[in-house]
Order: sequence, then C-alpha cells, then structure tokens
Amino acid sequence: MKTRKILSLILKSLLLILGVIIVAVIIRTVTFPDAQPYFEKCKVSDSDFIPLNDVRLQHFRTAIQIPTVCTSIDNCNFTAILQLHDHIQESFPLIHSSNFIQRILFANYTLLYRVEGTNSTLPPYMLVSHLDVVPAKAAEWQVDPFSATVKEGYIFGRGTLDVKQTLFGMMEALEFRLAKGQRPIRTFYMAMGHDEEVSGLRGAKAVANYFSSRGITLDFISDEGMVVADGILPGMQTPVALIGIAEKGMATFEFSVSVTPGHASMPAGETSIGILSKAMVSLEQNPHENFFGKGPERLLLEYVVNKMTLPHRVLMANLWLFGPLIARAFALKPNTNAIIRTTTALTMFNAGVKWNVISSTAKAVVNHRIHPLQSVADVLKIDKKIIQDDRVKVKILSAYEPSPISPTDSDGYRILHQSIYQIFEVPVAPALFIASSDSKHFVKLSKNIYRFAPSFLNSAELKGIHGNNEKIKIKNYEQTINFYYHLMINAEKSANLKSAFDKGHQDL
Ligand SMILES: [Zn+2]
Repeated sequence: MKTRKILSLILKSLLLILGVIIVAVIIRTVTFPDAQPYFEKCKVSDSDFIPLNDVRLQHFRTAIQIPTVCTSIDNCNFTAILQLHDHIQESFPLIHSSNFIQRILFANYTLLYRVEGTNSTLPPYMLVSHLDVVPAKAAEWQVDPFSATVKEGYIFGRGTLDVKQTLFGMMEALEFRLAKGQRPIRTFYMAMGHDEEVSGLRGAKAVANYFSSRGITLDFISDEGMVVADGILPGMQTPVALIGIAEKGMATFEFSVSVTPGHASMPAGETSIGILSKAMVSLEQNPHENFFGKGPERLLLEYVVNKMTLPHRVLMANLWLFGPLIARAFALKPNTNAIIRTTTALTMFNAGVKWNVISSTAKAVVNHRIHPLQSVADVLKIDKKIIQDDRVKVKILSAYEPSPISPTDSDGYRILHQSIYQIFEVPVAPALFIASSDSKHFVKLSKNIYRFAPSFLNSAELKGIHGNNEKIKIKNYEQTINFYYHLMINAEKSANLKSAFDKGHQDL
C-alpha cells in the first residue's frame, strides 16, 4: 500500500513537471518578440527611384563582357582589368569630374574612390566590391559566359552575381546623386580590388595599408558576402536577408610521417602509410567542437524565429530545452555543420614510389575552415591531441584567422538593415559567412564589417556563383542600384535609427 502511494506521488510529480515544461514551451513560443523593425519601402513611383534604363543596362552588360578573369595572383587578365577601368571612367563622367572625388590606384590595378562629404565630423565608411571574376567553362554554359545575354528576365554572365553588380550598382547610385546635384554629406570610400578571387594580397591589402598608414579608421564596411536567401533557410516562411557578421578562418596543414625505407618482402612493423592513415582517420572521425548556440547562428535565430513555421518556431524559441537536439541536427547536414564548427577536410594524400618498396615518407594535406570562436593555434593543438602520435609531424602550409564577430547594435548594421528592408521588404538577420572576401584584409580598420550583396537568390541561382550559368534577374540589378542609393542616403541620417531597433530584440 505504501509503495503504491509513493509511486502514484512520483507519477503525479512527473506529470506536473511535464505540464510545466509544456506550458513554458507554449508561452515562450507565442510571446517571443519580433526583432524586426519596419521602414517605409522604396517604390518605383518615388521621385528618387533609379530606373534601370537602357543606358544603365548597357553599362552593366559591357562590364560583364570584359573578361577580368583571375586564376592566380600572377595570372589575371590584366589587359581586361585595365579595359574595365576605362569602361568605368566612360560610364560615370560626373564621378570622374567631381573635385570632391578622388580616384586612387593601388598595385596598378586596384581602385579606391574617396568621396569627400560636406560634414567632416561624420566618421567615414567604405563600400567594397571587386573587379575580377573566376574563370568560366564556356562549354558547360547555356550561353557564352562573357556575352551578357539578356534572356528570360535575366542577364547571364560571369560576374553578374560575383560581383560586378555591386560595383556598377554603387557607381550608378553615386552618379545619380551627382546628377541630381546631391553632394554626399558623409565621406565614404569605394574599394574595388583586382585580385579578390585569388587572395586580395596585392589589391585589398594595399588599400588596407593606405588606411592604416594614415591612421584612418572606418565607421563601418559593407562588402560582398551573403544574400537575400529565397527558400534556402529551412523553416522560413519568407525569404530572409542575411548579413555576414563574421567569416570563417582557414588553415591548411601538411601532416607527414618518415620511417626508414625497406623492402616489401621484409616489412618491419608499422609503415609510414599505416601510421599516417591512422592519424587521418582519427581526424575525420573526431570533428572539432560543435559551437551551436554560442556563435552567430544564435543571433540569426533570435532575429527570424517569429517568421518560422510553427514546428520550427516551437523548437527554436526554446533552445533552453531543445538546444542539444538542434545542435545534433545541425551537425548532420554539411551546410549547417559548416556553420557550427571548424570543419576538417582531408584533401590530399601522397606516399609511395614503387610497388615493392616500403615508402619512407607519407604526406597528407588537411584543410580546416575555422569557426570564429577558435584560432589557428587552437585548431593545431586540437589536431595534435586527436592524433596523439609524435611520429606524425605537422607543418602549416597556409592559414588566416577567422574574423572578429561584428556587433548587430552598431550604426553600420542598422543602416544596412534599413536599406535592405526598404528594397526587399523581408526579415533581415545576422549570420556567419562560411566563405571569404576581401574584408579579411580590413579587420583592423573597423570593428563593424558586414558582408552582404543585395542579390535575391533561390538555391538554383545561388549555384551560379563560381558555377555555371551565373545570372542576375534584371529586376534584381535595378534593386541593387537602388539599394546602394538608399545605403548612401541612410548613412547620412542614421542618428535616429537606434530607437527603431531597440523595441524587439530579446536573447534566446
Ligand atoms: Zn566576390
């Protein structure tokens, strides 16, 4: 009788706890605030709307037709890059004849424009784009990649998304302002590297040195990076604009093992191939730490949780309960796994010269993309710990640190958010950029670096970047021009933006 009473008491308590948890989950799901501020949308009927007329379209198409391909730092089509310089100069006569705009050349091919504002007390900002493109395999395209064919509502061509649309978008916007007699109030720069696709080590690096040698810092930097993702983020009911607030670092390590060579007829214990293989298998089977809930993805969820489908909203608004489950789910898919940890990719393995000789050395190359909560040194240390074998030597072939995480409560972030919303009317959220851009050279110039290009893309269109049939919707190119126009205008009157953002944000 007594045991029965105790059991029923335990059962009742468990049910009570479960009930409390369910109520807490429901309350949190329905009361989690909307972190999105709203702004007036940019309309075609606005007196300052910039239409994509034939002249502007032709400027852009000609830019696409100039094949500014870079395959390595020494192997760029430099003639084409100079041709693009000329085309920029011819397309924007007001920019090039204004006495408050300075055009500066770096490493012969990289351009920096300095637009001096009328109010020198406002801190300057910088817009970043680049002149070069990656190669295109013409045989795999529907159209010639450098024809700038206009078809089915798109402009096709290498560089239409990466990233001549931002280059010409910002220039058209500025030229338009000048034609209207608007001199910018706030000083800003426009940087256009010539070797972004192959490291930025000559172009962007020289631009960075220019600023640091003069002691100039920037209030914020807007570079290419993430996009307006249409149907890409699972659980979202609407497209969402993602601003990259950090980018991953990279480290390429070479692991090697050396043993005394010998004849295959008398193998003595372990071979270099055996030792190294074991080490590589350990690296592959022991992924680095899962940082879900500690990195930029947490902020992303805070900003979009209200725009998710109900099942996603229940899960994401209750990380206190479902966090470990979601962390595991993120780790299962390569694209979400890349967001939450430093990834490990075994990319090369070489050993042996002859079938009957025990190879004295074996070498393997591992490429890591480093999460912003780790450093190159951390990754090296962890790899050594996983391998736990002193016979495996490691050499750093190349490496750069992940970027710092830029804040979402800065003026620069708010200006970008506002401009994106005005053009696209979609939720905006911070995120981790898993690729890299020229902005890695600018981390000392500003703590507010945001990686976003105003491209509205579904997953098929996204594949065109560095892939085949890269194309931009004609309408999206028009949006790009107007986005930069709004960005420039908003940057000049950002003082009262803060209150619009203060209302909604809450930590998950
Ligand atoms: Zn690019």
